[in-house]
Amino acid sequence: MPLTVKYRRSRRMRIVVTVLCGVIPIVLGLVILCLQAERALHISTQRTAEEARRQFDLMLDNTAQAARELLPLAGESCSEAKLALREQTTRRPFVRSTNLVWDNNLYCSSLFGDYQEKVNPGDYTQGELWLMNGNPVTPDTALLVYRLSAGKQGALTTLNGYHLSNMLSLIGHETILLLQVGNRWLSADGKVQEGALPDLPEAQNTLTSSHYAFTVKAGFPEGEVWRYMRAEYPPLFSLLMFFGVVSGAIGHVLQKRSTSPSHEIQRALEAGEFIPYFQPVVHGDTKQWSGTEVLMRWQHPKEGLVRPDLFIPFAEHSGLIVPMTRSLMKQTAAILAPASAFFHGLFHIGINITASHCHDLELVEDCREFLGAFPQGSVSLVLELTERELIKPSDVTHQLFEQLHALGVMIAIDDFGTGHSSLGYLRQFNVDFLKIDQSFVAMIGADALSRHILDSIIELSAKLDLGIVAEGVETVEQSDYLTAHNVNFLQGYLYGRPMPGAEFVAALSHH
Ligand code: C2E
Ligand code: CA
Ligand code: CA
Repeated sequence: MPLTVKYRRSRRMRIVVTVLCGVIPIVLGLVILCLQAERALHISTQRTAEEARRQFDLMLDNTAQAARELLPLAGESCSEAKLALREQTTRRPFVRSTNLVWDNNLYCSSLFGDYQEKVNPGDYTQGELWLMNGNPVTPDTALLVYRLSAGKQGALTTLNGYHLSNMLSLIGHETILLLQVGNRWLSADGKVQEGALPDLPEAQNTLTSSHYAFTVKAGFPEGEVWRYMRAEYPPLFSLLMFFGVVSGAIGHVLQKRSTSPSHEIQRALEAGEFIPYFQPVVHGDTKQWSGTEVLMRWQHPKEGLVRPDLFIPFAEHSGLIVPMTRSLMKQTAAILAPASAFFHGLFHIGINITASHCHDLELVEDCREFLGAFPQGSVSLVLELTERELIKPSDVTHQLFEQLHALGVMIAIDDFGTGHSSLGYLRQFNVDFLKIDQSFVAMIGADALSRHILDSIIELSAKLDLGIVAEGVETVEQSDYLTAHNVNFLQGYLYGRPMPGAEFVAALSHH
């Protein structure tokens, strides 16, 4: 049936949607965690760079202070100034050596005393700082030289590279931290390298000192974001997985619901896929069209035309049969009312109803509206209630059938002979017609017992003064038999199969 076919067809699609429902929240969660990790790393390198800049500023303050104190001594003889030079190296924690300069000539050093070396101010960034990769005393050991000058006087104080690299590794900790002075830079391993600072792969932050001519750069190596996430977010990963599973399960359940038969029927109803087909009912004697039975069809977008026995049980079960019948009645009125000129006398229109229609009085309004669509007195509405599903009498059903009768609506017991309706039942609901089930008609000429039941039904209906309709008339023999037994109305393939509205109206107009 269309309902299960659809269900099977979309199985792969449902799996895909279920997986997507599970995976999308996880992926989104991971993206958010990734952004969060990047933010955290960025804040971390920002703090590290700030701290490094602060510390280097302090160290250089200390070194510059030594230079400031020594500057006035520049020009004095080295033997006189020597002690003061050494005092500064002893008193200041970061100062490694102190030197006096006169006219760009280093003439006195805390280490060697009298000394002669040319000073090139161009070596110093902004004339102030020079990052050296060692000197003749300590080759390959970084050294930061601070230069202070006033006229011909000058003082050079050097900062031990060991302190610098130590600071880089202490503050940097897990972070890559670099110190740049001019076109040289120092890393935590104490090596001085030439050229621009390298780019750091993750969370790079660069800060320049406002007091001295240096820049610090902090960042992380490649893959740090993922390493950080793995270290910091295991509980969140578990939570994400949990959400993924829950969301996948919800997606799965919702899809199951959305492909459930009642949901599919609801969709089809909204899409107007339930349409009426019309099968003529003829007079037993003249064989003229006396009316029609309205039979529901499902014009399914993929499955084509679907027979009612494949979906009516689901429609009844879900309670949707009531709005479906209402829609069917509206469509029937819209199709047949304009053709009322072709009706021969009172035209019977049979609509199938179920027990669900009898729980309240809504049906009365639907019937009133239906009859109102036709010219007064042109149609007779017959509600067909199958005998297989008997209605329990109650106050509501009494009121319902009373009001229906007051409207002129007639009641037929469908599939008569297959159920257990009693005489009392027929009276209680003021039944007007019996529709003999097609199984009895099919046995005409073949089975003596069935024919006997058929005869009894015909007899009973005559005694109770009920109209009688024979269903499933397929052969002339059946037709002759029923006519000979005064069956008022005949319905079956012999006179016409159920057909779409336009075809029925066209056939009616030619009849
Ligand atoms: P039903 O009310 O007994 O309708 C008569 C069924 O017999 C129809 O089947 C009709 O096509 C079929 N039929 C008519 N003449 C012949 C014939 O000469 N030979 C044979 N073999 N069959 C014939 P259909 O249209 O498939 O409907 C099946 C059942 O579905 C209906 O049986 C009725 O119980 C239900 N149904 C149809 N439309 C509606 C509806 O709008 N509402 C409700 N509640 N039930 C409906
Ligand atoms: Ca019927
Ligand atoms: Ca029937």
